Amino acid sequence: MKYVSTRNKKGKALTSAEAILQGLAKDGGLLVPENIPQIKIEEIKNLKNMRYEDRAVEILKKYLTDYTEEELKESAELAYNYFDITDRMRLAIKSDKPAEAKKIEPEKNKVTAFIELWHGPTSAFKDMALQILPHLMRIGLKKTGEERDILILTATSGDTGKAALSGFADAERTKIAVFYPSEGVSEIQKLQMITQTGKNVKVIGVKGNFDDCQNGVKKIFSDEEIKKKLDAQKIKLSSANSINWGRLVPQIVYYFSAYADLLDNEEINAGDLVNITVPTGNFGNILAAYYAKRMGLPVEKLICASNINHVLTDFFESGIYDRNRTFFRSISPSMDILISSNLERLLYHESGEDSEYIKKLMNELNASGKYEINKDLKKKLKKIFYAEYAGEEETKTTIREMYNDMKYLIDTHTAVGLTVARKYQKKTGDKKPMLIASTASAYKFAPAVLNALQIPIEGMNEFEMAEKLNKITSVEIPKGLKALKKAKVLHEDICEKEEMSERVLTFAGN
Ligand SMILES: *Cc1c(COP(=O)(O)O)cnc(C)c1O
Repeated sequence: MKYVSTRNKKGKALTSAEAILQGLAKDGGLLVPENIPQIKIEEIKNLKNMRYEDRAVEILKKYLTDYTEEELKESAELAYNYFDITDRMRLAIKSDKPAEAKKIEPEKNKVTAFIELWHGPTSAFKDMALQILPHLMRIGLKKTGEERDILILTATSGDTGKAALSGFADAERTKIAVFYPSEGVSEIQKLQMITQTGKNVKVIGVKGNFDDCQNGVKKIFSDEEIKKKLDAQKIKLSSANSINWGRLVPQIVYYFSAYADLLDNEEINAGDLVNITVPTGNFGNILAAYYAKRMGLPVEKLICASNINHVLTDFFESGIYDRNRTFFRSISPSMDILISSNLERLLYHESGEDSEYIKKLMNELNASGKYEINKDLKKKLKKIFYAEYAGEEETKTTIREMYNDMKYLIDTHTAVGLTVARKYQKKTGDKKPMLIASTASAYKFAPAVLNALQIPIEGMNEFEMAEKLNKITSVEIPKGLKALKKAKVLHEDICEKEEMSERVLTFAGN
């Protein structure tokens, strides 16, 4: 399987190891597989009796064909071994899987299952990919004979940063720099990042929002001067954002795994269609679900759930992507994004791989912050996706109701997903089983969650809030978050968005 740029499919095709090491295509496009591999229902059935690690190998080997099965197995074992799956939040489905699908609504003829993706070390779904990516890169460096070391640049809306730091801290031949919006992440998210240990890590706050961080990083990637300077130091830039194929491909796994869980628990029969709702920001997680559907996972609709920054809802409705709008800071900050980078991959596949057309759209986006897709493409997307958003109050109500009714605690992002999933069901009457990506532990967003539960939080710090939440719900506080209380702050750098490239060069030279 080879990988090409969404903006030039006739350009040089890369192996998956090359694609993962490189991150972004040279022309600024995203790297995509030349074709989408297929999976038979029999193979999906076979996943039923496998551990998560083995399910991962089955899916990964279809895309990462230049890795041996042993290499993939080694990577998956190292990645998912340490997931903390001993907490008590398992209601209906018993499982020892790092990303189990958990059925919550025990109504007859109606299945709502949350795919809990946040049992990794940093308590958000980003761990599912970022715990395995460093191994794929390490093996990839050897495989491709790459002589340069890797410098990972990462822009984060809050969760990617810590997950990437956790994955890459003290990794061989790799340095990592993380840029986060200095005022745009939760207190816990910030603490998670600025206390990160490791000889090879750098964490910098940027005076701006996530889009500023992401644009800054993209600019550095396309800056020939910087590239030359780094080349001279034998350093190659790469990315740990979901623009990197190595971030996306491990995310495809858990949609298959969740389906296999439902089969295993006899909630569905092989071949039954399900719906999948994903709380969406950069369009990475839902794009992974799209690949799963295209591969043959029986999925009817992909439901794209946005918060009050609903640029994607508007896009699916109107066919116009327009980032020229007010940016809001919401209670689901990891979804506060106006440029959803991975949409480019979807448009590529659904336009019949028309890379000239994609290039034109992306140039328009760069020039005016806006583009409009043609009617044919819009119609195609509407068939696959349903898009809606949840307001702040609705999101809080959902958290409160879910907890009061089911004693099941969800975070603000997952609550956006659930709110939209219900809107979809109400509007369409569709009763197919609904899988919802549960993307973070509620403890990462304790102030908003307590607020949703109508518990006063005045005068409390984040740790007192976590303890309060624990007292009320007796849901365990994830170990990694508990440990933050005693962790030392190691990174206090803040910079202007114009200074990002300079900071990267300084860090690279050390
Ligand atoms: C990153 C993130 C999202 C959004 O995922 P995308 O892949 O960017 O669409 C949703 N929820 C949480 C908790 C996240 O960390």
